[in-house]
Amino acid sequence: MRRETRREKLIRILSETEEPLTVDDLAFYLHEEDRRSIIEDLEHIAKTVRREGMVLLMEPARCNKCGYVFRTARVKPPSRCPRCKSEWISPPRFIIKED
Ligand SMILES: [Zn+2]
Repeated sequence: MRRETRREKLIRILSETEEPLTVDDLAFYLHEEDRRSIIEDLEHIAKTVRREGMVLLMEPARCNKCGYVFRTARVKPPSRCPRCKSEWISPPRFIIKED
C-alpha cells in the first residue's frame, strides 16, 4: 500500500472531522509549519473533491469585535476588519461534506 499524499490526508481529515477546522488546526494535524502551502492545498482540493461527489465548505472569517462577516471566497485568513479595523478575527473554517 502506498503512503497517502498530503492532499489525500487533508481530504481525509476534513471528511472525518465533526467540526469545521481552521488552517491552524490543519497545520497541527499535518505537522506542517508552512500555512501557505496548506492554503494552496485547500484551494486545489476545493476543485478536485467535486469529482468525487464531495464539496469543500468554508465558514467565512468573522470579526470578533463588530461581527463583520468576510464575504470573500479567499481561503487566506484576513488580517484586519475593514469596518472597525480590529485584528481580532476568527479565521475561516473548513469541512468536506458529501454534495
Ligand atoms: Zn470589525
